[in-house]
Amino acid sequence: MRIESIDIFPLKLPMKTSFAISGGSVGSKTEGAPHVYVRIASDDGSVGWGEARPSHRWSYETIETVVTTLERYIKPVLLGLNPNDLQQIDRLMSREIANGYNAGQPIAKAAIDIALHDLLAASEGKRVAELWHASPASSIDLSYLISTRDPDEAKKKAAYARDNGFKGLDVKIGLDPLQDGDILRAVKEEAPDLFFRVDANQAYSLPEAIRLAKQMERIGVDVFEQPLKANQLMGHAELRRKTSVPIALDESIWTPSDLLQAIRLEACDYAVIKLTKMGGFRGAKGCGEIAREAGLGLLGGGLTESSIGLAASAHLFRYLQIKDPVDLNGPMFLEDDPIEDKPCLANGTVRLPEGNGHGCVPDLDKLQLYLNPL
Ligand SMILES: [Mg+2]
Repeated sequence: MRIESIDIFPLKLPMKTSFAISGGSVGSKTEGAPHVYVRIASDDGSVGWGEARPSHRWSYETIETVVTTLERYIKPVLLGLNPNDLQQIDRLMSREIANGYNAGQPIAKAAIDIALHDLLAASEGKRVAELWHASPASSIDLSYLISTRDPDEAKKKAAYARDNGFKGLDVKIGLDPLQDGDILRAVKEEAPDLFFRVDANQAYSLPEAIRLAKQMERIGVDVFEQPLKANQLMGHAELRRKTSVPIALDESIWTPSDLLQAIRLEACDYAVIKLTKMGGFRGAKGCGEIAREAGLGLLGGGLTESSIGLAASAHLFRYLQIKDPVDLNGPMFLEDDPIEDKPCLANGTVRLPEGNGHGCVPDLDKLQLYLNPL
């Protein structure tokens, strides 16, 4: 089997609600959300689909860099290769776009890796998890994402999550640090029994994080995610020694090598596994297995990908036996995406499509509708 074609589709998907993190807007109702779909076809007629969802507020990749990285650098070296040779493909992608401090353009490379796994599974009549000899996931529990500067709005959203069957909350803080304590108290008061994950997306200095963690101990937060800048592993280790609130690392962990540094420095209690920041299944599965063997907790997350990213991630998270509700909330922000058989949300649980691969196949007419050429 040989890779015959790689097609790259830059899209702008309509959003029904805006979404921001401490770094700024990730997508808005007026501008929509940048996504890049990738289709890989092999000479035996098999097809796979992948997705990248870059946000320049979260990391350095943009819709422009994803498209040019794939079109000009990755695609030319992959055409003609055997799609089964994932190790060689990974090596060639890393040679073509070298690693920097950690991974090089992992979100772009992930779109290729997801499409290849989809293609390989589909060509064997399997679902993605069966490539690892695991039972495929049929559903996964989601956390409900709250991102606001207003404690009253946070309270209303927590009540909505509680009343609609969600088992966990993922609250973004650092948008307005002066409001953080009030937001956390309002959420806890309204939904005291839900798993309470709080994500600062690198917003704080160490002294600020220690002060906030002391408040979190009193409020009853289950996990404090990425309080400090990504490269401050020593700072996270110090924070861990000064608070009983478990610390999770997300932006600090892109590769197995990053994770091993965090483990050696005892910098975290949880590792946040994300399919696209870790360059696809190969990297994310490796990180998940290392973290689990090291005794860390695992949290599942995404970068607000659409149905493809959600379904693909869900297969991995179930394989890794992630128990807590996962943050795969991208489709909840979208008015629509081009996928025919979409994952379906009810009572905080997403039912996954049952087709081969990750199960998400775009409607090509709809794909054209959302095309956003650079
Ligand atoms: Mg995070």
